[in-house]
Amino acid sequence: MLLIECPFCGPRDQTEFTYGGDATVARPSDPAALDDEAWSAYLNLRTNPAGEHDELWQHSLGCRRWIGVRRNTLTHQILSTWPPAPPKTA
Ligand SMILES: [Zn+2]
Repeated sequence: MLLIECPFCGPRDQTEFTYGGDATVARPSDPAALDDEAWSAYLNLRTNPAGEHDELWQHSLGCRRWIGVRRNTLTHQILSTWPPAPPKTA
């Protein structure tokens, strides 16, 4: 069992959270300018790091907010959590 520190609710069981993917992938600033290959790469290509990795998780059975989680993918140890940054405006 993983214990994840929600920045809004405190420590909670992993079963209250839903994994949301890689937190390091930046959305293209102008998606319409991408060709199919670049768009497909944005949607599908991910690294598979062995070690520390930043991920998005949603506290789906709690406050329902999205949070950032730094997790070691080898040990599953949760190293830190943080509230997500506000969306960037272009
Ligand atoms: Zn929460």
